[in-house]
This record gives sequence, C-alpha cells and structure tokens, in this order.
Amino acid sequence: MTESPAMAPGSMTDRPATNAAAFAASQEVLVGGVNSPVRSFRSVGGTPYIVDRAAGAYVYDIEGTDYIDYVQSYGPSILGHAHPDVVAAVTEAAHRGTSYGAPTLGELRLAELVVGRIPGLEMIRMTSSGTEAAMSAIRLARGVTGRTKIVKFDGNYHGHVDALLAAAGSGVANQGLSGSAGVPASVVADTVVLPYNRVPTLDDDVAVVAVEPVAANMGLVPPVPGFLEGLRAECDRVGALLLFDEVITGFRLDHGGATAWSGVTPDVWAFGKVIGGGLPVGAYGASREVMSFVAPLGPVYQGGTLSGNPLAMAAGIATLNLLTPSAYAELTAKAEQLAAGIAAAFSAAPMAVQVPRVGPLLGFFFAAQPVVDNGGATASADSGHYAPLFHALLERGIALAPGPYEIMFPSLAHGEKEIDRTIDAFSDAVETLWGSGRD
Ligand SMILES: *Cc1c(COP(=O)(O)O)cnc(C)c1O
Repeated sequence: MTESPAMAPGSMTDRPATNAAAFAASQEVLVGGVNSPVRSFRSVGGTPYIVDRAAGAYVYDIEGTDYIDYVQSYGPSILGHAHPDVVAAVTEAAHRGTSYGAPTLGELRLAELVVGRIPGLEMIRMTSSGTEAAMSAIRLARGVTGRTKIVKFDGNYHGHVDALLAAAGSGVANQGLSGSAGVPASVVADTVVLPYNRVPTLDDDVAVVAVEPVAANMGLVPPVPGFLEGLRAECDRVGALLLFDEVITGFRLDHGGATAWSGVTPDVWAFGKVIGGGLPVGAYGASREVMSFVAPLGPVYQGGTLSGNPLAMAAGIATLNLLTPSAYAELTAKAEQLAAGIAAAFSAAPMAVQVPRVGPLLGFFFAAQPVVDNGGATASADSGHYAPLFHALLERGIALAPGPYEIMFPSLAHGEKEIDRTIDAFSDAVETLWGSGRD
C-alpha cells in the first residue's frame, strides 16, 4: 500500500477519513447511504467499508484496510479489479470521446464476440444494465408471441423490472420485502411465480418463461437434471419463448455461457455483468428472426442514449478477449479449491453446510441437504449464521457479499496466496464462532 492509512480518497482534506464518518455523511444525501440496497449491510448489520480503490483480488477502503474481495462488483470483475488490459482499453477509448449517439466499431466487435460464443444466438442489442436487458427481452417475447403472461421462478432475480420483482431473491429477499411497494397489482397480474427446479405444465397463453439457468441470486442453486430440458420441451409444446437470464452465467460459468454448459438453447437471452468488464453494459439477443421484431426492424421499441457506450464496449472487448477456455478451467480450479477448503473449515462445526459449485460458480448454505429451491435458500438465510460469519471474515480481511443470498465471486486474480488466506480465515472464523464447547 502506498497511502498512509489516514489519507482520504483523492487526498481531499475536507472529506471524511473513516468509514463511519463517510457512511454517516452518505446517509444524509444517498438513500441508506448507498446506490443499491444490498451494499448497505442491512442484513448483516454494521457499517460498510467505503472503497477507495481496488486492484486484482483486493479492495482497499478509505481507512487503508485491504480485503480479499469476493464481491467483485457482484460478478463483472472476473479478471480481478483494474486489470491492466481493461484499464488501457478504457483509457484509450476515453481519449477518443465518451459517447457519440452514432454507431461504432466497438459495438460491432463486442457483438461479434458475444454472438460468436453462444450456439443459436444470432443478433444482440446492447443496453446499459442487466435490468434493461431482462426488461427488453420480456417486451420482445410479448411482442413476438402476442401474449402477455410471463412465468418466472421463485428466488430467480432478473433485475428491478416491475413485472419481474415478485419473489426475486438477492437484494429483494435481503430487505425482507416480498416484492416491492410501487409495483401495482395490475403490473404483476400477468406474472406467474413457480418453484425453481420443477418443470411446470404451461397454459398456451404464456409468452415467455424466464429462468436463471444456474440460479445465483438465492445462493447457488444448480438446475436439477432435466429441469432446463423440461422447460425447453414445455415452451415448445405451448409456443412460449424460453428466456435464459445469463446476466451472471453469461461468460462466468463457461466460454459459451449456460447455453453451451447445459446444451439447452433458449429463444431469448439476457446478458450483463461480465460482458461489460466492470462498466455498465447489458444485452439481449435471439435468433435473427426473433430480433427482427425489435425497432428499427420491427414493432417492439427499445433504445438508449448511452447504449453501446464506447468505454463500456472497450472494457467488454478487453475482458472477453482474455476469457479463453483455459481461463474458465483456471477459475474452476480456484473455485474447487475454495469449495474444498470451506467445507473442511466447517467439518468440526456444530451445523451442517453445503458448498455447491458449478464450474467457477461457488456458494454455500447452512443446510443439511443440497438446496434445490428458494425454500431451502431461505431456511439457510433464516439460520442467522451468515451475519456473524460475514463479520468474522471481514475482520480477518476477507470480503464476502453482505447478504446471505449472494454467491462468492473469485476472480482470475485470486492466486494461491489469496485462496490459502481465505481458507485459513474461514477455519479461524468457524473455530472462533462455533469451535469446540460452543454452539
Ligand atoms: C444482476 C442481475 C440482473 C440485473 O442486472 P443489473 O445490471 O444489476 O441491472 C439480472 N439478472 C440476473 C440473473 C442478475 O444476476
């Protein structure tokens, strides 16, 4: 570290120099002191660390404390923070202007990279967030089918789209809200929420079935064998479109996303997070035929002033260029090591844990049996064990997401040293919290 611990961000002497002071000031002008609810530490208690900067596997707060970071922006920073290629690409792009309102070669290149990785995907439209991508994909599916009803699964998160905010896992569950105020009953009247991992029998008025192909917003819940295949068959039977929300799985799970991983091809995809390399990007896509319903080719309107932003395209291209098949093998090996270490850390603890892993995706539950749906995920969260573990790890320099419904996001920058330190911290935290003689 080069800064002295007391130095405030940007060395501006009038800025608060402690996390507590900065968070108090933030709460005066930002709702809950944050711009996204889960960051507020509501579900774990305490004061958030206020980030000054981050590099590789580490995040540094304004007090100069460093943490091995498993938040990684909730997924986008798969290369680790401030990867030199990404920083160089964004810097170079910024010198050429930050937004034009006209098409660019960067958009073409990133679109080619995304389309080229996914079997069945032919065209995409860039947005500025995963939420916009999911929202637009739903609109597209309704426009294509001429139907209104949508099906989603309990505990799957598709962004803060009004019609999809019912039973949405992640931050929504963290806040103890069953959905959201401000979403009229009429807006969710056409949303049917069903349990994950059970293939429903659909009516023929369903426009689209939206699913996280590997659920990662209620902890990590893999699809049981036959679930995705069953959804595909059932959608085909009634003429509904199948939407894979790959905002997390797209280019974190596998080189070809959940589509290549599962061998099941949906009709519509939503992407985000990794494809922007840490800048605001989302995208939705489909076959050429389906995408031809989107304006200017077709009647489904969707646009955006900053969509396809040149800085964001540059970051996405730099990131995807480094995500080779061997990068996924490497990240999977790291996740395997972490999973084994975390499971071992709990071996002498009084409670049972599950450490699910799907390729590089990693989660853990306080549960005696593998978790297959939101009921299991909620029972784990309700155990109350996450908050003390979270704080014990934070004190030991390990930053997990401040909520029990999030997964862990190791990056390619997490090396042997960081993984060993993480496993040691888990062992020490578990021993301190729940070691022999305690309960
Ligand atoms: C994060 C996420 C979204 C929303 O993306 P934002 O960029 O936060 O709007 C949608 N779907 C899934 C599966 C996500 O994990």
